[in-house]
Amino acid sequence: MLLTPRTRASRRPRLKAAALLASAVSVCLLAASAPAVPLGVGDRLFPQLGNPGYNVASYDLALTYSGANDKPLQAVTTIDAWTTSTLDSVNLDFAHGDVESVELDGEPASFAAAGEDLVITPEKPLPDGSWMRITVRHTSDPVSPDGRDGGWVRTADGLALANQADAAHLVFPCNDHPSDKAMFTIRVTAPDDYTAVANGLATGVDRTGRTTTWTYRTLHPMATELAQVSIGRSAVLRRTGPHGLPVRDVVPAADATALEPWLKKTPGQIAWMESKVGPYPFETYGVLMAEATTGFELETQTLSLFEKDLFTEPAYPEWYVDSVMVHELSHQWFGDSVSPRTWSDLWLNEGHATWYEALYAEEKADKPMETRMRAAYSASDVWRAAGGPPAAPKPPDPGRKISIFRPVVYDGAALVLYALRQEIGRPAFERLERAWVTTHRDRTATTADFVRLASVTSGRDLGGFFQAWLYGEKTPPMPGHPDWKPAAPAARAPGGAMPAPESGTGPVGP
Ligand SMILES: [Zn+2]
Repeated sequence: MLLTPRTRASRRPRLKAAALLASAVSVCLLAASAPAVPLGVGDRLFPQLGNPGYNVASYDLALTYSGANDKPLQAVTTIDAWTTSTLDSVNLDFAHGDVESVELDGEPASFAAAGEDLVITPEKPLPDGSWMRITVRHTSDPVSPDGRDGGWVRTADGLALANQADAAHLVFPCNDHPSDKAMFTIRVTAPDDYTAVANGLATGVDRTGRTTTWTYRTLHPMATELAQVSIGRSAVLRRTGPHGLPVRDVVPAADATALEPWLKKTPGQIAWMESKVGPYPFETYGVLMAEATTGFELETQTLSLFEKDLFTEPAYPEWYVDSVMVHELSHQWFGDSVSPRTWSDLWLNEGHATWYEALYAEEKADKPMETRMRAAYSASDVWRAAGGPPAAPKPPDPGRKISIFRPVVYDGAALVLYALRQEIGRPAFERLERAWVTTHRDRTATTADFVRLASVTSGRDLGGFFQAWLYGEKTPPMPGHPDWKPAAPAARAPGGAMPAPESGTGPVGP
């Protein structure tokens, strides 16, 4: 994710929600049983997310869109999972739709809401190590719950998804934690004048009467926070990336020609990233430009979400927009293919995406990395005081999914990578980056995994180095730059090329 800096010209009134519908899951209890209790996997930042006792292998989401983006979609979510302990009940995360029915292995099952969980109770306990198929018929409400950021983004012509970090379970029932990646099949039925695109490659387009069903499937596992479903009056523009990689961009049909100068940059950006870290990790890529005011861009897997205004607002310099495109592209390696095991590992996503964003600007637009990192060093103690150290960030504000995205995990974490490169030298640093995305491809990884691999790659024990840089309240001295000094904690982050804590990253101004 990257927060969009706000210029005066780009600040627009938000779409007005028609009517805020009830946010709680309403359920009918089919059979009385032990009281349902919400569970979580104990994430430090989001303790209620995820559920113990099973791993999801695949999701099949079938969504039916009416053509009105303020009306609930009809949905069927089918989950194939295997148990990792004996389960008296199965908890899913789901908090913003009506549940009509639940089947477990083809038989009706009793269910109840508890907190933000949907709790399913089988007739007899499920043994450890067994497969289960859960089918939930439900609605998926695109109108955000009152006072909370939703997963659906209502665009001028339809819908898109932005689930990061904790909003996938406002869209569909799931094990909503990045530690449980799974394969996805996404089917969208919509009126004929709409186009639907989701993660992965299209496997079918079925036209029936006045509706069309679009089916997409991922070839690689994906975290729920990275799911994307775009429904709109869209053009899908196809081109070819390195090694024949299919690239498809999704833009409002009326803007396709005007946006082409930006879209045609993607293959070259992919080739540049491949020259830095190795082969692109997925089956396709593309840019989704949504006519919506989200305040951020998001690295949804194989199809990154951008606000269209980023490309049409003249106040944004071209080199800056390029670097934002590279930020989201680099997340396909750092954050998507290798995804965080816990949300405290977020610095691995955003630190690396900021790193390649800045490196691209250095190489292509003569914006020196050292200048940016010197400014980051100056602000780093202020950022740590505000957001916690990079690998132990402070918890989010309740209900604000983007509030963990603070400067300390962007330039504050890129600064850690800069310090590492200073410490172990450029050749070892570049070997580490390639080894990281190769070793952990299609999996989750932790901060400890990164520290371990950095030590192995450099042939040195870097435990003490990372302890200070990732967990210290104060920023350690910068190797090779003894003259760099942090600003006093009371001082504000410098302006110009550096982000202020509230405005996201990026050196933009009219
Ligand atoms: Zn990001």
